[in-house]
Amino acid sequence: MSDNDSGKRYGARYGKRIRSKVSEIEKDQKSKHECPECGSDSLKRQAKGIWKCEKCGNKIAGGAWRPKTKGKSMVERVLEKSGEE
Ligand SMILES: [Zn+2]
Repeated sequence: MSDNDSGKRYGARYGKRIRSKVSEIEKDQKSKHECPECGSDSLKRQAKGIWKCEKCGNKIAGGAWRPKTKGKSMVERVLEKSGEE
């Protein structure tokens, strides 16, 4: 009865894992990353998938939480199509 219930509500079971993952992501999100353009650690997350270098102003599209992902993200493709500002 309640056993069946807890089986369905797996959310709590995975809570810890997800929470640690989230804090990892948050750390990553807040920390600065290396700009591929000028090489300085000034790359900051602007929005989901958008990273901007505070030093040279280079704007790149990447992963939602990290500047680089394997392959191209959808955002990256969209940005490529729309061209730069
Ligand atoms: Zn830069």
